[in-house]
Amino acid sequence: MIISMKLGATKEQIESVCKKIEDFGYRVHSIVGEERVVIAAVGKGDVTHCLESIGSHDCVESAVRISAPYKFVSRQYKPDRTQISVGKAVIGADEFVVMAGPCSVETEEQIMACAEAVAAAGGKILRGGAYKPRTSPYDFQGLEEEGLKLLRKAGDAYNLAVITEVMTVTNVNIVAEYSDMLQIGARNVQNFPLLKAVGRVDRPVMLKRGLCATIKELLLSAEYIVAHGNPNVVLCERGIRTFEGETRNVLDIQAVPVLNKMTHLPVILDPAHSSGKRDLIPQIARACVAIGADGMMVETHPNPESAWSDGPQSLTFAGFKKMMDDLKPYIDLWKASRQVPVGVRS
Ligand code: PEP
Ligand code: MN
Repeated sequence: MIISMKLGATKEQIESVCKKIEDFGYRVHSIVGEERVVIAAVGKGDVTHCLESIGSHDCVESAVRISAPYKFVSRQYKPDRTQISVGKAVIGADEFVVMAGPCSVETEEQIMACAEAVAAAGGKILRGGAYKPRTSPYDFQGLEEEGLKLLRKAGDAYNLAVITEVMTVTNVNIVAEYSDMLQIGARNVQNFPLLKAVGRVDRPVMLKRGLCATIKELLLSAEYIVAHGNPNVVLCERGIRTFEGETRNVLDIQAVPVLNKMTHLPVILDPAHSSGKRDLIPQIARACVAIGADGMMVETHPNPESAWSDGPQSLTFAGFKKMMDDLKPYIDLWKASRQVPVGVRS
């Protein structure tokens, strides 16, 4: 159950409502938002009587039953799709938002060139890792704060919002200071302390699905962030690990319509980390648009052959521009389909 308290409900009223819910056999978790307090009640109790009793309090705005284990992110809780502003872009609205940039920020020259290419081709958000999750400890680990500064400078120079990955709780504040959106990478999708920490900052979060995370697990991870106070979460399907070895991972494109039924949060796709191969990306990108994702993340680099990370999947600037140009008719159809309410879309 989710119980929303009225604006101005007092501490005593909140405590008394919590106590009553507990008496019905539930555990309560109250979330103090900027405007109001919301109480999540979890457990097995007499739901009908509890809802009736709690809903009749003057200080309670609404009390609703959410059967899914993920509550705040469920479509049941919020039937309207969430729109999330990042700089001038609005994810989940009427534009297909493309985030692009290098896998890692390497040098000022490199990130400036990327920002120029991303802006010129119609990308809205500049990506670039400063703290890198690398499989090998001997691979480049990121420029850290220096990388954040360069990313910010490049974003500002070309009027792009910036997104970058945060890997540890201790770095959440510094990453938030320099960026417009925080990225939680696939490997940290179930780093619960980190999810709680980004739940407490005032920055939208892009949460990547883990290589082995189910859709339900992804939603429960998103629930952590929202339950800790940050409602602005974008989900990103970036490929899951299967028996197939021809591509780096397998893009679970079905996750888009599945998630659209389960959650109100926007969903984007990452055909770069799924395929791992630059020549496949433009074709997969068309499918990303056609399936109705809210946007896409790709990597681009001035000289992919010498990139410090993820070169094989990084598009050249010319390749990125061509892909963006070729996507235009598909994006026009995407826009037309957005005019149809979600529930009616087939
Ligand atoms: C990345 O975006 O560069 C990255 C490391 O992604 P993922 O977490 O999906 O592997
Ligand atoms: Mn990468």
